[in-house]
Amino acid sequence: MDAVSNKHVFAFEEGDGKNKHLLGGKGANLCEMTQIGLNVPPGFVISTAACLDYLASADKALPDGLMTEVREQMKALEQKTGKGFGNPDNPLLVSVRSGSAMSMPGMMDTILNLGLNSETLQGQISATGDARFGYDAYRRFIQLFGKVALGVSDEAFDKEFEIVKKAAHVEQDVDLSATELKDISERFLRVVQEGTGRPFPEDPYVQLEIAVKAVFGSWGGKRAVDYRKQFRITPDMANGTAVNVCTMVFGNRGDDSGTGVAFTRNPGTGENKLYGEYLINAQGEDVVAGIRTPKPIDRLAAEMPEMAAQLAVLRDNLESHYHEVQDFEFTIEQGQLYCLQTRNGKMNAVAMVRTSVEMEREGLISKERALLRIEPDLLEQMLFPRLDPSVKAESVAQGLPASPGAAAGIAVFDADRAEQFGGELGQKVILVREETKPEDIHGFFSSRGILTSRGGKTSHAAVVARGMGKPCVAGAEGISVDVNRRVAVVGDTSFKEGDVITLDGTTGKVYLGEIPTVEPDFTPELGILLSWADEEAGLKVMANADLPDDALRARKYGAVGIGLARTERMFNDVERLPIVIEMIVAETLDQRQEALDRLLPLQRSDFQHLFEVMSPYPVTIRLLDPPIHEFLPDENVLERELEELHALAQTSRGMNALAGAMGLLHTSKEKRKDLDSMRRLVDPALVEEAITKKEAMLKKVRALYETNPMLGHRGVRLGITFPEIYRMQIRAILEAAAECGRMGIEVHPKIKVPQVCTVQELKKVKDYVDEIHEEVKQQYGHPVNFQFGTMIEVVRACMRAESLAEEAEFFSFGTNDLTQATFSFSREDAENKFLPLYNRSEILQDNPFEVLDEKGVGKLMKLAVEWGKAVRPNMQVGICGEHGGHPASIAFCHNAGLDYVSCSGPRVPVARLAAAHAALAGKG
Ligand code: ADP
Ligand code: MG
Ligand code: MG
Repeated sequence: MDAVSNKHVFAFEEGDGKNKHLLGGKGANLCEMTQIGLNVPPGFVISTAACLDYLASADKALPDGLMTEVREQMKALEQKTGKGFGNPDNPLLVSVRSGSAMSMPGMMDTILNLGLNSETLQGQISATGDARFGYDAYRRFIQLFGKVALGVSDEAFDKEFEIVKKAAHVEQDVDLSATELKDISERFLRVVQEGTGRPFPEDPYVQLEIAVKAVFGSWGGKRAVDYRKQFRITPDMANGTAVNVCTMVFGNRGDDSGTGVAFTRNPGTGENKLYGEYLINAQGEDVVAGIRTPKPIDRLAAEMPEMAAQLAVLRDNLESHYHEVQDFEFTIEQGQLYCLQTRNGKMNAVAMVRTSVEMEREGLISKERALLRIEPDLLEQMLFPRLDPSVKAESVAQGLPASPGAAAGIAVFDADRAEQFGGELGQKVILVREETKPEDIHGFFSSRGILTSRGGKTSHAAVVARGMGKPCVAGAEGISVDVNRRVAVVGDTSFKEGDVITLDGTTGKVYLGEIPTVEPDFTPELGILLSWADEEAGLKVMANADLPDDALRARKYGAVGIGLARTERMFNDVERLPIVIEMIVAETLDQRQEALDRLLPLQRSDFQHLFEVMSPYPVTIRLLDPPIHEFLPDENVLERELEELHALAQTSRGMNALAGAMGLLHTSKEKRKDLDSMRRLVDPALVEEAITKKEAMLKKVRALYETNPMLGHRGVRLGITFPEIYRMQIRAILEAAAECGRMGIEVHPKIKVPQVCTVQELKKVKDYVDEIHEEVKQQYGHPVNFQFGTMIEVVRACMRAESLAEEAEFFSFGTNDLTQATFSFSREDAENKFLPLYNRSEILQDNPFEVLDEKGVGKLMKLAVEWGKAVRPNMQVGICGEHGGHPASIAFCHNAGLDYVSCSGPRVPVARLAAAHAALAGKG
């Protein structure tokens, strides 16, 4: 290794602010901020490379020479600050902080006030003349160091803390006196001694070395590993953590000191206004830990006007340098403002979209950046449910609106049970805690919302919930949570585990019971952003919609057509199903035609409505696809019903016999009437008729039975064996279009044939189409403007794309079936039985039904596009189905030369942005 790459430690003045991989996000930004002249306390970064070396070493040893480098840097810090590390007269104290390339909030712990020991403590006290402050710093250090570096549990410390607080009759930490804090420090030293079997380390360099190792070790700890797994953070995104050693500044030096966390813009709404919280006379982690409820940043102007002005300048400097919303930490020590951290702000979708549009208008970022800074998937959040405003309900408690959206579910009081109820049992769960900690993270994943009784908008619960896009109400102080008894008391009522509650993270209100939610609306900014996306995109985005309401919604989301309307959905309507069944069980062609004649006007009006709603955009209608037995009742059910009917027939015969016998005995008019109604109660003839019908049905069901229905008699195969069904549908489409034409509505119907594997099938269907079109032309006096095309969803269709293109005017990839066909996996069986294991053991990277398999299925698609377009260059090629709404698959479609994607309505905004990303990536 050469001398340069052997360097593991970088002063904030020398580290490369762009190299997050080496210095971690926090470290790189501390360097960058120092270098652009912001007020950062002096410090240095130990690289992630050192961390990897350490973790790879057999005996968990720091790399050679590392501590020498560290000592040199400490000497430099001593010079910059005029203090001495371990010097009792004027001690230098530092924080030791972790930080990897990806921000992993709360995943790894920071140690504050390192360098304190029994001697430097006295020095610190005489230097500041503030014994209370000295002991406060000391007890924090012992606890944090004990917990993070030495592995002593929090509970042992908390117990001692509570004992002293109780004895002193004190509620808030700030009310503890110097003597009480001294008592606490001594108790804490004993806790460490008992917990580790050794005295608390006095030598500051020993403290520092242990701390560095602990930070490195935490990269491999369970919490960090779980987090990386959950968010799929791979080594090329972040590999190892850096250690940041930073001179301590003290927000707990009295009432002219304080600490806070702020966003340069509101991360919940995007509003262009400083947003944050602070606490007077407190040290950093007090704000985040939710121990005291902090004050909104607005109040700082009244309390410390000079600091508020400086903070406003800091905010501008950060934004104009980073060109991005920043989430930063600051501390004020006796009227001096320091910036301790900055990173790009994590925001919800509404805020991301609004800040994109506004920062572009302010000239802070380009349109391209405005689009690219938003992950397409995030937009789905903008379709967050909110409480139905028409429902009047009384809230029982009010907390802080910490993460927007509304959710209802059963209350659960700890993360493990949340995981159990929400994850394993699939129930809707609301996690209720006093406050949350990083070790609760698994409970968040399984919950629909989070409620805490303590902490602010930047508390752990709030930050994590916002990141996950889950509703959160924080600091609902009216609720007293008893985790052990699993109840929460609110005023004079209460709720216990399993009771349903509703949260509104947008207003901070909490309700007992379930309140219905409604879909939210598009914000105006989203409309603007997506219009920019459409300008960049190559792919058009259509929607899958079967019913006019879905189509309307899809249009609202910006779909420029329907790429897939499934006609079987219409068949399943309660009023139609009996007719559909009649059509299926018909014994003769005449009988079948009679049922179809009744279906025709229904389908025609379905299509007409779709056309009207979508005009002037195209509507692609797929002819009947599923095996027809899907419309019939289940064989087992029929058998059971028949059994019951036979029993009933016997009963009714019995009753008739009884009535007859009684009739001979009783002659009174009254009695005879009774007997007649007894006979009528169950009419044997009626029962016989029902039996005959059910038997016919059962026979049909058995006749239609298939071993492999999805590979059986379905799709175009049906259309060829029962041409009258497809003919009815084709007629309904063409007549609906002609009706619209008559009313002056512009329509572009596209008829799509499913499951095609050879052009002969297409030709056959095309013959019906031409013939029916002739008739419709006669009938309406004008031709219908339509296209005829095919699904590409079987492997042979891909291979025969050239030949299919001779008949088909468009191709539409059905990638769900095509994936099944390519892998020879049936989706349900795969996802239930072996896919999860395949994914875990990395036999397959992803679930190919969710993420398009580019290497296999994608290759077939590319061939089909190429061959198809060779024959018919202007042919429109699209994809319909789940993959069409998946950003990575959309990027693939863009590159494979498709013309459009079609996805479910709510995915349309996601797909529009993803299409723009794909085009911009190609440019870049
Ligand atoms: P996290 O990643 O959990 O935010 P940090 O390293 O940022 O961890 O530190 C935790 C808290 O300690 C933050 O509030 C931070 O501002 C504060 N802090 C860190 N270093 C210092 C320091 N040198 N002086 C004062 N406060 C500090
Ligand atoms: Mg921090
Ligand atoms: Mg299909």
